[in-house]
Amino acid sequence: MNKNYDENNIFAKILRLEIPCHKILENDHALAFSDINPQSVIHVLVIPKKAYLNLYDFTENASISEIELLWKLVNDVIKLNKISEKGFRIISNSGDDGNQDVPHFHVHLLGGKNLGRMIN
Ligand code: 5GP
Repeated sequence: MNKNYDENNIFAKILRLEIPCHKILENDHALAFSDINPQSVIHVLVIPKKAYLNLYDFTENASISEIELLWKLVNDVIKLNKISEKGFRIISNSGDDGNQDVPHFHVHLLGGKNLGRMIN
């Protein structure tokens, strides 16, 4: 585990079932659940079940099967919501410059409407 990982972050608590979430899907290595403060019609968070700080930490240190199953779960949520044709947006905030609030790697999947330009 990365020495900077805070085991008391909110997503770690969700993974330990200490606080509830609205689960969408899961597999052996990843969990998808609704964002508590949705920024679009569809706003799902997809997280690895093991402790990684951010996308860089995940891609540097996770196993191939963890990486494969996280992105497979993103695709499964896209399929479940039938947004593969209409489109969607993936965001992963990292660190201070990325304005990451929760220090457990997560992918935001946003969709269900036109999301406008990425950065205004
Ligand atoms: P970040 O800024 O780290 O990329 O995004 C963190 C996201 O986690 C935010 O969109 C926020 O709404 C969401 N979030 C924060 N606390 C909770 C929580 O307790 N439950 C859920 N489902 N989402 C949360």
